[in-house]
Amino acid sequence: KERAQNYTFQTEVNRMMKLIINSLYRNKEIFLRELISNGSDALDKIRLLSLTERDVLDANSDLSIRIKAEPEKRLLHIIDSGIGMTRNELINNLGTIAKSGTAEFLSKMQDAEKSGAQEMNDMIGQFGVGFYSAFLVADKVTVVSKSNSDKQHVWESDASAFSVAEDPRGDTLRRGTHITLHVKEEAADYLQPDTIRNLVKKYSQFINFPIYLWASRTETVEDATEEKRETKKTEKTVWDWELMNDNKPIWTRKPNEVNEEEYTQFYKSLTKDTSPQLAKAHFVAEGEVTFRALLFVPRVQPADSFNRYGTKTDHIKLYVRRVFITDEFNDLMPNYLAFIQGIVDSDDLPLNVSRETLQQHKLIKIIKKKLVRKVLDMLKKIPDSEYESFWKEYSTNIKLGVIEDPSNRSRLAKLLRFHSSRGDGMTFLADYVARMKPNQNHIYYIAGSSRAEVEKSPFAERLVRRGYEVLYLTEAVDEYCLSSLPEYDGKKFQNIAKEIFDLEESEQQKERLEAYKKQFEPLTTWLGDKLGAWVTRCVVSRRLARSPAALAATAFGWTGNMERLALSNAH
Ligand code: ADP
Ligand code: MG
Repeated sequence: KERAQNYTFQTEVNRMMKLIINSLYRNKEIFLRELISNGSDALDKIRLLSLTERDVLDANSDLSIRIKAEPEKRLLHIIDSGIGMTRNELINNLGTIAKSGTAEFLSKMQDAEKSGAQEMNDMIGQFGVGFYSAFLVADKVTVVSKSNSDKQHVWESDASAFSVAEDPRGDTLRRGTHITLHVKEEAADYLQPDTIRNLVKKYSQFINFPIYLWASRTETVEDATEEKRETKKTEKTVWDWELMNDNKPIWTRKPNEVNEEEYTQFYKSLTKDTSPQLAKAHFVAEGEVTFRALLFVPRVQPADSFNRYGTKTDHIKLYVRRVFITDEFNDLMPNYLAFIQGIVDSDDLPLNVSRETLQQHKLIKIIKKKLVRKVLDMLKKIPDSEYESFWKEYSTNIKLGVIEDPSNRSRLAKLLRFHSSRGDGMTFLADYVARMKPNQNHIYYIAGSSRAEVEKSPFAERLVRRGYEVLYLTEAVDEYCLSSLPEYDGKKFQNIAKEIFDLEESEQQKERLEAYKKQFEPLTTWLGDKLGAWVTRCVVSRRLARSPAALAATAFGWTGNMERLALSNAH
């Protein structure tokens, strides 16, 4: 037999382990969540493979996770019948950090470390910390793994270095991974059945494979003997695998049979978010394609979402007939809805295709289209009491949607809210339209860098004084957004910083304007000559109340606000 070969961990792994140990010492329990989630990932992989390669499950057709504690020996076993690891995979997967996500996590954690404990806890909530969290509770970890494409190997480590050897016992596992934690004395509580049950309930109840615990129960056996006409009760202890989770996927249940608490728990386990979702949608779509979906709006989106806008895209896990296919598909949500978290499960997509061919599949386009509609419905249904916080977090997404998604423009427009001259609060466009004066044909707006600035604008003076409502657009994206929206509810928008706007006037007012034009012609001509190429023309205006003059943009020209934005973007 070969001797065990020794290896050192990659530097990043050492950093990761130090970070985990230093930051999670009060939150050790997450190790079980991480190991179960790895088992579940490995089971997903073998199940996916089995769709195209029939014989991969021959070695073992059971797909499950089993947990067994040996308190006297202080050993905790977590066993899965997943894809397993070859010798090389043991060395690479459990000795290096290959995933860019983890590297990103590491660098973020180091930033967070400077800002304090709370920040670090938030970070850990968002990311999975992975296999190395086993060392939170164990001083030695043994991983025995059997892949279909290699002999069974044993990986072992005390966190400072690791060894790998072919298993002298042979291929005892048939297929999968058996992790043994040599539990530290102070972590002995994790060997108790109740502790394990509670942790599985807390973190892993929605895992789509059965999770069993090797547990004992007391059974009372009644021996009734005919002759003596009496029953004798005896108690005996029975050891068996006890199922700890309900592994029927929640999205396959009927919406009216799932309660709010279950949705929230599922959302939390799906996203690792500590707050409940802001909104959810659970539905079956039928027609050209049948699929089930369960979608969520988180309360907050990651702080750097817009820096990464359009790069990492969606957060939708794709299943086909309950089989997890991928969460890196990134083609089920447009960029502006990348914050939506959830699951899509379709019976109509072919199982035996690669992710690449799936991308080309015509049904994917149809699913995406329906998903977007459903998301917009869900957003529209957010109650007033929650809309404020939704809008605070996602207004930019919705405005970008108006710009980027012409086919859903009018649906998105219903979600828009702006400040207005009416008061301090914000208004939906529908409410603005409902308040329009009988003779008013346009929705008036003005854009600037702050409310104070636009409030003082000479362009708004006369309109506001005459009782017209003017929308105040104060975010950079606002003016682009409304420029790409031709109308709302049949009413065209009018940027009042532009030259053309036909304020509805009486015959008498029109006559008076004509008179003014004549009267002031020498002045407008003189000004036009003086200003020369700086302006297109000088005219008598109807829009001013107190200000003597205003500089307006032409109908198709850029307003001062657009010029300002273009200039600041260029810098
Ligand atoms: P992640 O799960 O985010 O990839 P982990 O640190 O949890 O990171 O695991 C590292 C890698 O080790 C996994 O990507 C996987 O390739 C491998 N691995 C861990 N546990 C198992 C397991 N039970 N079965 C098969 N492979 C595993
Ligand atoms: Mg993992």
